[in-house]
Amino acid sequence: MTTPAQLIKPEILAMSAYHVSPSAGMVKLDAMENPYPLPERLAQLLGERLGRAPINRYPDPHSAALKDRLREVLGIPAELGLLVGNGSDEIIQIVTLALAQPGATMLAFEPSFVMYQMVAAFCGMKYVGVPLNADFTLDLPRAEAAIREHRPALIFVAYPNNPTGNLFDRAGLERILDMAPGLVVSDEAYFPFNDESFLRSLGTRPNLVMMRTVSKLGLAGLRLGLLAGPSDWLGEFEKLRLPYNVNVLTQLAADLVLGEVEALREQAAAIRAERERLWPALAALAGVEAFPTAANFILFRVAQADRVFDGLKQRGILIKNLSHSHSLLANCLRTTVGTPQENERFLSALKETLA
Ligand SMILES: *Cc1c(COP(=O)(O)O)cnc(C)c1O
Repeated sequence: MTTPAQLIKPEILAMSAYHVSPSAGMVKLDAMENPYPLPERLAQLLGERLGRAPINRYPDPHSAALKDRLREVLGIPAELGLLVGNGSDEIIQIVTLALAQPGATMLAFEPSFVMYQMVAAFCGMKYVGVPLNADFTLDLPRAEAAIREHRPALIFVAYPNNPTGNLFDRAGLERILDMAPGLVVSDEAYFPFNDESFLRSLGTRPNLVMMRTVSKLGLAGLRLGLLAGPSDWLGEFEKLRLPYNVNVLTQLAADLVLGEVEALREQAAAIRAERERLWPALAALAGVEAFPTAANFILFRVAQADRVFDGLKQRGILIKNLSHSHSLLANCLRTTVGTPQENERFLSALKETLA
């Protein structure tokens, strides 16, 4: 009898599964979720519509109505291709599967979204991580040298970056687009909190595609992401998409809620306003270094991250401990911007643990 260890790919054996912390009963500030529920009127309407959804049938394999809605709401021109995924995580996987030829390389900056490297391992694609500067800005000379050396078929750029929160210098990214020999994906998961985008460059740059998600806007439970860009790229990715990857309930719910996207945009505006209050309050605490953010979360450094993380947890606050995830993130923690009440609870618990 062969054992799994003899048959499973070594890159998979070496990995540990993506960890999600138990959060029952806690103030949940670990996953960049929008803390606000749907407005009551929309929730009612959604209930009625979903109750009548034809769940005995397969979903529309092309998500046609939903894609029309996404084009309208996000302003994606008709001449660009559009792909929908079961979260942008699935889109990362589709793009990587398509480009993971023997010997091909994925490049990303570090620290960044861990899913890029994980999916490279799933797909057997070589992965090169280019360290950011200590202040998490782009190290352009180093990036240029790595691109020349490794000739990556695929580059992922989280814009703004997760878990650091900052937007990389636009001119630096334009330079990377100029010299990249392969595809560059602008991962704009946090677009609702900054309005910075490469959308307007799509189509003018043949090697650029843009990824968005509805997760951070308030629909994380639906699992819906999208990729837009030149149709020659998107047509190939479409072949890899499993036919029914976006289910009936998600297609209906996303279409309905995005039809009233103003409600979600108001919530995003409230989160942004709250961020402008939370950031200085956090930065003013003795023993805390808060990093600039263009997203709905804040990365900060303390003297003893493990102790502070545990202290917050004991007080019912769950954030993310990144201290051991990358050398540049030593003693770093990340909190999501929650409701004013949640942020107050976080701040007072933090003061207690720091005292
Ligand atoms: C949260 C996040 C995503 C994942 O989004 P889903 O659509 O929920 O899969 C993608 N990229 C970055 C940088 C993120 O932080």
